[in-house]
Amino acid sequence: MQNTLKTSVTFDGVGLHSGLPVKMILHPAPAGHGISFQRTDIELGNTVIPARWDMVERTALCTRLVNEAGVVVSTVEHIMAALAGCGVHNALVELDGPEVPIVDGSSAPFVRGIMKQGLRRLTDPVVAYEVLKPVTVELNGAKATLMPSDRTRIEFHIDFTDEAIGRQSKSLDLRNGAFARELCDSRTFCSRSDVETMQANGLALGGVPGENAIVFDGKIVESGAGLRHEDEPVRHKMLDALGDLALAGGPLIGHYVGERAGHALTNTLLRELFATPGAVREVTCDLAMAMRLPGQGLIWSEIPTEVARVA
Ligand SMILES: [Zn+2]
Repeated sequence: MQNTLKTSVTFDGVGLHSGLPVKMILHPAPAGHGISFQRTDIELGNTVIPARWDMVERTALCTRLVNEAGVVVSTVEHIMAALAGCGVHNALVELDGPEVPIVDGSSAPFVRGIMKQGLRRLTDPVVAYEVLKPVTVELNGAKATLMPSDRTRIEFHIDFTDEAIGRQSKSLDLRNGAFARELCDSRTFCSRSDVETMQANGLALGGVPGENAIVFDGKIVESGAGLRHEDEPVRHKMLDALGDLALAGGPLIGHYVGERAGHALTNTLLRELFATPGAVREVTCDLAMAMRLPGQGLIWSEIPTEVARVA
């Protein structure tokens, strides 16, 4: 059955790119609603933005949605990943500013906030999107693929010149609470040289190395109390991929492979998937299918605490 939140949950913070303070409130929503965002700081016109791939406007460094009235919300990927990874199918995400709070740079505070209150089961079955044919997109040496599978699997390969990152690969079946256990606490990261470029372009203004982002500079790692996983960067890329894939409009049943992919390429992949005849179908989940969805089997004690685990 579809889930929503038991009660509303509030998060305060700043936007990573805007640097602006923002309050985000997740509200329960009825079956069939899906996930949508609403800007409460804008009074006129349509302020609701459905969390869907065709609403994606810009993907440089984060995923930004825009509705037909021009109302935007930026950096939706980490809250979308948290909702998908916890198995929340319906929620209204209220924001009093243009960007989702970055919190600690990961999805873990969102996962803890959502699961502390718990979920409410609704009476309608989950509607998922099942990949039926392989679809691949490539750009500038990066590649993203979706293949048929009976479950949600995310596989990622990265290759960075910063020695402290280097090559990293990981593949994970997202049932049995794997997102919360394995991925949700991995933080946003970038290279030191990117920070200067971004800030010169009015981006990453809310970024604090070690506090809400990991900054790599060759062998040097600014990560606060240390990395949370030795391969934290590739895990974060998988987190981003789950958040971006959640813009399918429901759970996506298939095997995603990202090779140096980013938000733009994953969105292009979804556009290609929905534009390719016979590549995807909407399916009402039976019990066996529902048991394999992300969020199933999530256990509170397996959600990471804020303590870093790798020195
Ligand atoms: Zn991210």
